[in-house]
Amino acid sequence: MGDTIFGKIIRREIPADIVYEDDDVLAFRDLNPQAPVHLLFVPKKPIATLDGATPADAELLGKVLLAAAAYARREGLADQGYRTVINCNEYGGQTVFHLHLHLLAGRQMHWPPG
Ligand code: 5GP
Repeated sequence: MGDTIFGKIIRREIPADIVYEDDDVLAFRDLNPQAPVHLLFVPKKPIATLDGATPADAELLGKVLLAAAAYARREGLADQGYRTVINCNEYGGQTVFHLHLHLLAGRQMHWPPG
């Protein structure tokens, strides 16, 4: 699987509104937000899909989840609540093939999703 737009954001080749970074994870605002807060948490290692993740990625995936949870807590989003989503492949609605965790907050979420 080749490079993606998120690889370019990680390498600072194209701009993004970056809200968090550590050695393994980058988070930035979604270009087309679906909620008042809509962030994407990405592992810097380019895993294409959740389906392509392996047991060797377990710690990294945990770091992505925990980075999002810590951000939400720090920014006061956790008490009201938020939604995290990982879309996988066509029926999952995935459009960028660099695994990413959506963090959506700031409005009531509904179920089932569309
Ligand atoms: P997916 O559909 O793959 O789960 O989510 C991809 C997300 O990336 C979409 O919500 C889309 O709005 C966002 N996106 C696509 N291209 C860019 C970009 O160049 N910059 C940013 N910040 N977000 C993007």
